[in-house]
Amino acid sequence: MSEPVRCWSCGAPIESEYQRCPKCNEAAPLAQRGRPWKRRLFQCNILGGFDFSGGPGEDVELVFELDKVTVVHWKCDDEVIPAEQLSAVDIYGPGAVTTGGGFIGGGFGVVGAAVGIAIATALNALTTKTSLVTFIRLAEPQRELFVHYGILEPGALRVELSPFLSSNRLTQAPHIQRDSHA
Ligand SMILES: [Zn+2]
Repeated sequence: MSEPVRCWSCGAPIESEYQRCPKCNEAAPLAQRGRPWKRRLFQCNILGGFDFSGGPGEDVELVFELDKVTVVHWKCDDEVIPAEQLSAVDIYGPGAVTTGGGFIGGGFGVVGAAVGIAIATALNALTTKTSLVTFIRLAEPQRELFVHYGILEPGALRVELSPFLSSNRLTQAPHIQRDSHA
């Protein structure tokens, strides 16, 4: 993991978290095996799960690197999940959702009513009319964590996490639920 990422256009070194070349502003090259790569997902909220730290509604960050995911808590210790322990990483959700017309918490597939209610509560507390609703499920054989992420819609996040998912044999087709909430 020592060889730096270099711009495909001008050859300048690019930090692993940068998405553009600081010198010529071309997009950073696609991640490659053996090169550093990192994606930090700000503004995640825990929805639920089993046997992880923290609690529903807690703000966390998920930091994806090729060999691990770190759940960054602010009030308790961070949790590092080695990638090889993960049995699945699911990325799903309705994407852009307009609130204000009464969000009833449906359309969440197999996630279950409890999570649907928690999400509806969270959505109803938002002041903006349209928000992005993307869910991430980190699953190990005997524990799992559900997180809401409001920066990218599911399809875009799936692309962002391609290096992690693909290098760890966790690839899945992006399935985006487009319900009639929008
Ligand atoms: Zn460049």
